[in-house]
Amino acid sequence: MAATPTNWAGNVEFAARALHRPASLGELRETVAAGDRVRVLGSGHSFNRIADTTGVLIGLDGLPGARAIEVDSAGRTVRVGGAVRFAELCPVLRRHGLALPNLPSTPHFTLAGAYATGTHGSGDTGGTLAAAVRSVELVTADGGTVTVSRGSDDFFEGSVVSLGALGVVTALTVEACEGFEIEQHVYEGLSWPVFTEHVGEILGAAYSVSAFTDWAGPLRVWAKRRVGDPLPDLAWTGARPADGPRHPIEGMPTENATEQQGVPGPWDERLPHFRAGFMPSAGQELQSEYFVPRDRAAEAVRALKEIGPLLAPVLQVSEIRTVAADPHWLSPAHGRDSLAFHFTWLPDARAVAPVLLRVEEALAPFDARPHWGKLSATSPGTLRASYARWEDFRALLRRLDPAGTFRNALLDQWFPPEHSPGEREDGPDELGRGV
Ligand SMILES: Cc1cc2nc3c(=O)[nH]c(=O)nc-3n(C[C@H](O)[C@H](O)[C@H](O)COP(=O)(O)OP(=O)(O)OC[C@H]3O[C@@H](n4cnc5c(N)ncnc54)[C@H](O)[C@@H]3O)c2cc1C
Repeated sequence: MAATPTNWAGNVEFAARALHRPASLGELRETVAAGDRVRVLGSGHSFNRIADTTGVLIGLDGLPGARAIEVDSAGRTVRVGGAVRFAELCPVLRRHGLALPNLPSTPHFTLAGAYATGTHGSGDTGGTLAAAVRSVELVTADGGTVTVSRGSDDFFEGSVVSLGALGVVTALTVEACEGFEIEQHVYEGLSWPVFTEHVGEILGAAYSVSAFTDWAGPLRVWAKRRVGDPLPDLAWTGARPADGPRHPIEGMPTENATEQQGVPGPWDERLPHFRAGFMPSAGQELQSEYFVPRDRAAEAVRALKEIGPLLAPVLQVSEIRTVAADPHWLSPAHGRDSLAFHFTWLPDARAVAPVLLRVEEALAPFDARPHWGKLSATSPGTLRASYARWEDFRALLRRLDPAGTFRNALLDQWFPPEHSPGEREDGPDELGRGV
């Protein structure tokens, strides 16, 4: 057993006494079946206690097959083990002339961990990454194994963005597409009035677009064009092309960022902002993110801009992206095309907490849904009211995990166990305990 780890950001020290690494599927199944409480740790990039447990924390690195990557070129799918990271998968897909349609800002995470929290990239037509999943292989609470597949199982859409609560994901089958190339064009000096009035057009100007801001000065736009698509035209906005490489956070080393200035390159070396093998983002940070309906984008931008002076002192950078609607029950983009407001905060939880509450107040009229792997204080009641399939997920939890083996404190707050005297309407106290 290895010593108890912390998460990537260092703000969460896991409560489990140690990280247990099963060396065989049999050992994993026994550990789960015998465990009072069990959770799996992916690459630990979540900022809250979603991966935490007071019981047995499992790492899959030692499990045979957990790092396996099996490409079916003809069928355009890939089966990956539960510990595989995007940075490991992407070069393999590329060698087969294949690609994933979308990627997060950095390839450092495991696929299983990313899908569990509804992780997403950017683009009007790109959903959360979960949209590409075709089947999930699980070790369930009784130590049994089950494969849940799209089109065959009516609870498939509850099983991908699972919050890690349905079982141990030992493998996933994911759809790939034909490989493609991307160019990144960075623009600077975009004014707030133009952005607010044309937010849909600007964020839809290329295959994948991100706007970066400190909510004070002008915005910067990263437009990622698929080679072959029309060139993004942002000259009409008054923004000007950057005269050199940029990092999303001003002052951070630009060599950590993927290549820009219109140089074409493979999809996996342009869609993420950060390069595999380099420090992503700032390293010293906390993160939060909220999804609002895209048809209310301009109103929501205005609401946050109004509290901009409060945000700036505790913020390293904000990123604004679009995410296409998907059918996954707990996806923050469930049933609605979305605009996602991301915040990379300074690593100072006390200073961030009151500001985060103001962000949630400002976004409350827009039925904002928080990212499952980042810091928020949204109440269970608000979450329940926002997700049409909330009760279906609760029923699925009961069915696959009747004794609550995969529950943890956050799960108990979001989906109180049956014997609970009543649901808490106050926030999950995540800021206090999670950072
Ligand atoms: C620098 C940085 C950049 C980020 N950029 C983005 C971004 O662009 N877009 C975005 O949406 N998010 C982003 N995130 C958030 C990140 O995508 C999520 O936190 C994601 O869940 C991390 O994956 P992980 O492998 O580290 O999972 P962990 O944080 O380790 O775990 C997340 C959840 O998955 C569960 N889990 C993990 N593996 C398994 C398994 N095999 N079986 C069952 N359950 C499992 C865990 O129990 C936990 O509940 C970023 C985070 C960082 C630190």
